[in-house]
Amino acid sequence: MSSPLSFDEPTLRAIVDQVVRNLQGAAPAAASAPVVAPARREGRFGVFTDVPAACAAAQAAFRQLQPLGFAGRAKVVEIVKTLAEKNAVEWGRIEFEETRIGRLAHKVEKLQIVKLVPGIEWLRPFALSGDHGITLEEHAPFGVIGAITPVTHSVPTICGNIVSMVAAGNAVVFNPHPGGARCAATAVRVINEAIHASLGIEHLVCVLAEPTLDTFNALCGHEAVRLLCVTGGPGVVNAAMRSGKRAICAGPGNPPVVVDGTGNLAKAAADVIKGAAYDNNLLCVGEKQVFVLESCAERFLNELARAGAAKLTPAQLDRLTAAAFTTAKDAGGCSHPVLNRKLVGADAAVLAQHAGATVPADCPLLFAETDASHAFVMEEQMMPMIPVVRVKTFAEAVAAAVRSEHGYKHSAIIHSLNVEHMSQMARAVDTTLFVKNGASVAGLGLGGEGYLNYSIATTTGEGIATPLTFTRTRRCVMVDNLRIF
Ligand code: NAD
Repeated sequence: MSSPLSFDEPTLRAIVDQVVRNLQGAAPAAASAPVVAPARREGRFGVFTDVPAACAAAQAAFRQLQPLGFAGRAKVVEIVKTLAEKNAVEWGRIEFEETRIGRLAHKVEKLQIVKLVPGIEWLRPFALSGDHGITLEEHAPFGVIGAITPVTHSVPTICGNIVSMVAAGNAVVFNPHPGGARCAATAVRVINEAIHASLGIEHLVCVLAEPTLDTFNALCGHEAVRLLCVTGGPGVVNAAMRSGKRAICAGPGNPPVVVDGTGNLAKAAADVIKGAAYDNNLLCVGEKQVFVLESCAERFLNELARAGAAKLTPAQLDRLTAAAFTTAKDAGGCSHPVLNRKLVGADAAVLAQHAGATVPADCPLLFAETDASHAFVMEEQMMPMIPVVRVKTFAEAVAAAVRSEHGYKHSAIIHSLNVEHMSQMARAVDTTLFVKNGASVAGLGLGGEGYLNYSIATTTGEGIATPLTFTRTRRCVMVDNLRIF
């Protein structure tokens, strides 16, 4: 029996190609064009290339979310936390393969712990009751938020931001770092598919699949965007602050550590390795330089080596420094080091090769003795190489720590049992996070009390982001009535 329709093979192939393109929503393309990755489908499940289209879709989604109330927001939070944990291995892998920085196991772990980010339970109204009636202050959403994410934790920052922002009732458009844009689009599409299946909203979370400085500027300038949230380095923080929009800025850090010798040096060394080696020192809170009192320096250095870190000789340090930094002149003609981004987040073993040293492939961290003005001390190097500086007095340690932190007001760590020392350093560094006798990550609720997020609003002062960070306060007043006595 013959088929009612019959085609020769080239015709059949052309029809199949066209059907596939239609299903992908792609424009007609040459037969040899590569299949468009699902994550890049324009305007489906939150993935856009056009800023106005993304902002309009997010604005419409915000309006769809409003009537669903707290239950709708709670559902989105549950969806994001569940998907981050369920897809941690896959999303961690694609982020690692795209960005080529950090450690795969830590990329996965950062997604598994998204469940520790606070949700709608954080939003408690404030009430007043008195002779003139009652007043209720509520934490209301802004509407559409424009969010910028770093390459150091693309998908974890996106997941943490969605939990906080949607718990507060907002929609969001992400302009991710171009180096982590594909994994961002993949995660956003999967999250929107689940939100759509559960709540019928397709674009609550939008992402620009081809982010550039132009899309950043267009996002900042779009009238639907009521608030910016920037997680990144000094360039993007300054650009956002100049945009004229209110911006919540989770800016750069360069966290110093002071070791005064009064505490347990073996634990101090293990804690420094835990924080500084995590994801090859990509964390903004991660220990970046250590100031240790001369009286205990030798013992502390020995403890670092005993705990698995590898020491570089002065000659090896010079070779690594030459590979890790170039020199440039600023507007005033002063020379300053410039980070070689190719070594950011590289394994300690790779850095060791540049130093002319050999260490085991799983070596967590390198360390070397430097002076206080060394490039590895003063620059936010984001590499698993900790410079250790000997100082004569505690006052000298604190002064050097403050200088190296550059007034970012981000994070600092002390290992000490001297309460006076703890208080002196806390006052002097004036940082958002100050950890005593623990690894830096304890400041994010990982080994210390507290809660997690990947955006720590250091520059603008809101602290570790929560749903409250993304709300505006609205007051409702009833005069002379409604009290129960
Ligand atoms: P980055 O500043 O290079 O990039 C961040 C984002 O800003 C990216 O999306 C990038 O494309 C964009 N961008 C960069 N310069 C810009 C400019 N001039 N105008 C507009 N957009 C611009 O940072 P990164 O390397 O992706 O991330 C590391 C930096 O982020 C470090 O400084 C780290 O301390 C910081 N960070 C801070 C936090 C925090 O919570 N405080 C969290 C993670 C990372």
